[in-house]
Amino acid sequence: MSILIYAESSEGKFKKVALELASYAKKVADSLGTTVTAVTVNNSNVSDLSKYGVSKVLKVTNDKLNNFNAKAYADIIKQAAEKEGTKVVALSSTTDSLYLAPLLAVALNAGYASNVVALPVSTAPFQVKRTAFSNKAFNITEINTDVKVIGLAKNSFGLAEDAVSLTEEDFSPSLNDADFSVKTENVEKVTGKVTIADAEIVVSAGRGLKGPENWGMIEDLASVLGAATACSKPVSDIGWRPHSEHVGQTGKPVAANLYIAVGISGAIQHIAGINASKVKVVINTDAEAPFFKVADYGIVGDAFEVVPKLVEKLKEF
Ligand code: FAD
Repeated sequence: MSILIYAESSEGKFKKVALELASYAKKVADSLGTTVTAVTVNNSNVSDLSKYGVSKVLKVTNDKLNNFNAKAYADIIKQAAEKEGTKVVALSSTTDSLYLAPLLAVALNAGYASNVVALPVSTAPFQVKRTAFSNKAFNITEINTDVKVIGLAKNSFGLAEDAVSLTEEDFSPSLNDADFSVKTENVEKVTGKVTIADAEIVVSAGRGLKGPENWGMIEDLASVLGAATACSKPVSDIGWRPHSEHVGQTGKPVAANLYIAVGISGAIQHIAGINASKVKVVINTDAEAPFFKVADYGIVGDAFEVVPKLVEKLKEF
């Protein structure tokens, strides 16, 4: 009755969220007196998982699964859960998992709580803390079903090494041809830059930058910090920056360790998408800008003076 996690990988490497999920599941497993089993798809290099407390891996290898397929992946995890007799299945609250988790929960007749941000408040009854209202509040959700599915919010737990010995097992669940009637293909723009989804640090800028010609200093700041660049919605709407950089409620969600907002007012729709970030810094000429209310650090000043100075100073380190 181990805890089962679905460990997401990309190009043969586990995503950081998968290792964070393993760290989290190990702590939950310890409190329940059990172990952690992971199911992986088309990733045979699984030793990294054991560093974070996974003691068994069910390896699924099938070319049909090269592209993410929510129905097929949900079916695989269901079969793995049934094989292991697991009562708790944990996923990362990523875009992929947000598709597959509800399908999985239905298939397992399980209750599902997404965006979990802490270890269970209680395991009997099973209660978890999760974010609500676009990360503005928390609630405690009780899952009463026999099998429980939970989704761990990115960056909510961190990595915790806890090495254990590992058993690897090839797992060949049956696949339903009907799940492959629609072919999906992942197309990712190769930019050579850090993507917003993977970034630990995001440097974001808004209309305060006045025009696309002024983004050089934002790129410099991102480069010196090893960060991804992002922008507010109007900036991508006007075409100053690509739509792929638009963050917020209607754009990409950001749960970075550090989010730096330059010349962004802090409208509720922007904050809703970046609120899960750990440390928020704002640079704005207007001390009354709403962003200052949610920021951990704020500089009231002109971006055109502050940002180049910041870049200069950071280059000294
Ligand atoms: P502004 O509001 O114009 O703010 C510019 C800021 O720059 C000001 O605070 C100003 O003081 C500051 N500034 C000016 N000059 C300087 C300078 N030299 N140095 C430093 N600071 C300076 N917005 C999003 O971002 N993401 C979303 O997902 C999103 N979804 C939306 C969904 C809906 C349904 C709606 C209605 C709106 C949505 N919006 C979204 C838009 C949102 O309401 C705001 O209009 C938008 O976030 C404002 O962008 P901004 O902060 O770049 O621009």
